[in-house]
Amino acid sequence: YFISSEGPEGAGKTTVMQLLGERLVKEGYDVVMTREPGGIKISEKIRSIILDNEHTMMDSRTEALLYAAARRQHLVEKIQPSLEAGKIVICDRFIDSSLAYQGYARGIGVEEILSINQFAIGQTMPDKTLLFDIEPSLGLKRINAHSTREKNRLDVESLYFHQKVREGYLSLVEQYPERIQVIDASKSLEEVLEEAYKMVKMELGIFR
Ligand code: C5P
Ligand code: MG
Repeated sequence: YFISSEGPEGAGKTTVMQLLGERLVKEGYDVVMTREPGGIKISEKIRSIILDNEHTMMDSRTEALLYAAARRQHLVEKIQPSLEAGKIVICDRFIDSSLAYQGYARGIGVEEILSINQFAIGQTMPDKTLLFDIEPSLGLKRINAHSTREKNRLDVESLYFHQKVREGYLSLVEQYPERIQVIDASKSLEEVLEEAYKMVKMELGIFR
């Protein structure tokens, strides 16, 4: 079973999904936690090329292709074998990040990003996607409060960009209403975790 988590930085998705994963492991589920861009050596290298501050002038299509390349390798090396072994894969970001960030917010176009990603991943889509939705100014406030490294990267991008990212995600919910579930990430960590947990447990109940 393949679950992805999506949303902007500051929504708390990494923290929540980490806690959720630990909880599922305690309950006896065979869970693989991973993240994008990254997850395996080659893709982590690609991640550092993309996210390195010195590369802020990177062309947006180059960036989109690198994300897709990192995703391809991650899928083949880690996600697919885990799914074939019957594991639950929980991935922090997947295709929807590319559709929202590069397709929508960077303005390349969701259709074009979808097509390069279909080339990269074929038919393997997440069974469920949890979208941690938050007002961008609140998300940015949370980041400023806890991480200078993240903050440096984020200062480069405007609030306007993050508003576009959010719009992109919300338009994806309309496009994929069955797959993408929205979680109100402005609530407390405990509440958000509880909601995510309930959603995932319901899915796994059906899956079992
Ligand atoms: O999820 P995480 O915070 O590790 O994401 C790393 C960075 O990569 C974030 O700043 C996010 O905005 C960016 N990103 C992106 N396009 C993607 C995936 C991530 O711009 N497709
Ligand atoms: Mg994160």
